[in-house]
Amino acid sequence: MDKNMFASDNYSGICPEAWQAMAEANAGYVNSYGDDRWTERACNAVREFFETDCQVFFVFNGTAANSLALAALCRSYHSIICHEMAHVETDECGASEFFSNGTKLLLVPGAHGKVDLEAVTDRVERRSDIHYPKPKVLTITQATELGTLYSLDELAAAGESARQHQLKLHMDGARFANALATLEVTPKQLTWQAGVDVLTFGGTKNGMAVGEAVVFFDKQLAVEFDYRCKQAGQLASKMRYLTAPWVGMIEQGTLLKNAAHANRCAGLLAEELLSVPGVQLVHPVQVNAVFVQMPEALIAALHADGWHFYTFIGSGHARFMCSWQSREEEIRAFGEQLRERAAGL
Ligand SMILES: *Cc1c(COP(=O)(O)O)cnc(C)c1O
Repeated sequence: MDKNMFASDNYSGICPEAWQAMAEANAGYVNSYGDDRWTERACNAVREFFETDCQVFFVFNGTAANSLALAALCRSYHSIICHEMAHVETDECGASEFFSNGTKLLLVPGAHGKVDLEAVTDRVERRSDIHYPKPKVLTITQATELGTLYSLDELAAAGESARQHQLKLHMDGARFANALATLEVTPKQLTWQAGVDVLTFGGTKNGMAVGEAVVFFDKQLAVEFDYRCKQAGQLASKMRYLTAPWVGMIEQGTLLKNAAHANRCAGLLAEELLSVPGVQLVHPVQVNAVFVQMPEALIAALHADGWHFYTFIGSGHARFMCSWQSREEEIRAFGEQLRERAAGL
C-alpha cells in the first residue's frame, strides 16, 4: 500500500482521460498562447457545462486563479471578505494582496469552514469612513477547506448578502466538481444562478496534471484579464496541454465521475476511521476529505509507520483525503491496519 495515498488529492497522478487528451493534443504544430483549437474547444466546453456565455481563462494553479480573479474585482484600497480558514488567507502566501497591490483580506469566522453571514454584515457595516479599506468582494470556497458544502440555500443566502452589500461574489472552486457530485445540482445552479460573478474552477485536484480555469460569469469583469494573466507569468505558451484535458474531461463527464468516486471513497474511509475507539469526526464528510480527532498516540503510531497525512490544515485535526485514484480495497486494508495498530497501543 502506498502510504501517501491519503495525504492530499494533489498527490494523485493524472487520470487516464486527461492523459489521453494530452496525448491527442500532442500532434503536429499548433498555434501558441491559447490561439488554438484545443483552447477554443475547452472554452466552449466550459460554456456548455455552465449553460451560459461566460469568459474563460486557463492558468497554471489555484493560487494564480484565485489571486488574479480577486485582483480583477478590486482596487488596491478595497478589501476582500473571506473565511478565516480560506485558502486565499492561509495557503497563498499573500498572493491576493500582492496581485491587487495591497487589497486587504478581512477575515470572518464561521462553522465548518463556511462564512458566517452576520459576520460579513458586521465587517461591511462596522465602518464606512475613508480610513477603512472599502469591502468590495466576498469570496467563498465550495467545497470548503474543511470538506464541507454550502447547500443551495446557504449559497443563495451568501449571494443575497453579497448583493445587499454591493460585493462581488467570488467562489474558490478548487474542489467545485466534488461539490457538484454530492449536491446533485447543475453547475449553473451552484454558480451564476446563485449570484457567483467569478469562479476559480479546479482541474488539478480532480485528475489533471496542472491547470485551473477562471470563469467570469459577468463578462464585464473580464476586461483585460488576459493582460493580467500574461503579466503574472500565467499565460502558457503551449496552452493546448493545459486546455486539452478540459475538453476530454468535460466532454466525457470525467470531472463528475472522478469527483463522485473520490467522495464515495471518503465516505468509506470515514467508516473505517470511525470504527476505531476514540476517533471522532470533526466536520461532516460531504466531499473527499475526512477530518478526525484521534488519540495523539495513534497519530504518532501512524506517522511512525510511514503514513502521510496532515494535522495542520484548517482546524488542526488529522485530515485524510481521497482522489480519483483512491481504491476501495486499499481503504479497507488501511482500516484493518488501523484497527490492529490502535488495539496494540
Ligand atoms: C488546492 C487548493 C487551491 C489551489 O492551490 P494551488 O496549490 O495554488 O494550486 C485553492 N483553493 C483551495 C481551497 C485548495 O484546496
